[in-house]
Amino acid sequence: MPERSASRVTTLDQLKAATMACRECPIGYIATQSVVGEGKPKPRLMLVGEQPGDQEDLAGKPFVGPAGKLLDRALQAADIPRDQVFVTNAVKHFKFELRGKRRIHKSPAQREIAACHHWLEDEIALVRPGALVALGASAARSLLGRATPVLANRGQWLPRPDGMQVLVTLHPSALLRVDPEDREAAFEAFVADLRQAQRLFAR
Ligand code: SF4
Repeated sequence: MPERSASRVTTLDQLKAATMACRECPIGYIATQSVVGEGKPKPRLMLVGEQPGDQEDLAGKPFVGPAGKLLDRALQAADIPRDQVFVTNAVKHFKFELRGKRRIHKSPAQREIAACHHWLEDEIALVRPGALVALGASAARSLLGRATPVLANRGQWLPRPDGMQVLVTLHPSALLRVDPEDREAAFEAFVADLRQAQRLFAR
């Protein structure tokens, strides 16, 4: 196993450079580039997904693919200003398997989420959000340090050891896999989860 990359970073540009060079888990060897977060510094809310997808890997930006577009729509429906939040991922490189020429998303293993965890904590320390949203099980595990079943905890605020609160909900990509006839109800439930965080913007 490669050694852990050097020490803490002090800017998001340094985080990008450090994660670009990181090979602490195998995903770094296959992705195009690392993807770090984007958005407002010191936001009331930082949303954390699982990992970049195919389009994010190519663009070097988080949440620019289909799941990102769905997230934008849900934030708007929940009355959360998109330009007032910060979005990122628990794992900074795109894990996939090739099927023909297509790169198919593969969920990161627990050890890969753990290897990337210190970069996420560096990012949280740099961005200094007021609260966190875990989009899906990988993000919840990384942010809370333990397996956290999403369906049993969705829409709830859970505390981290440092006192910061984490709202747990689904990853928007999960909604893209729902049967078409159930998709609208699933979207409304996702928006209802996000509305728990909307109060932070109403103050
Ligand atoms: S996914 Fe994270 S831990 Fe793995 S190589 Fe990339 S930056 Fe490093």
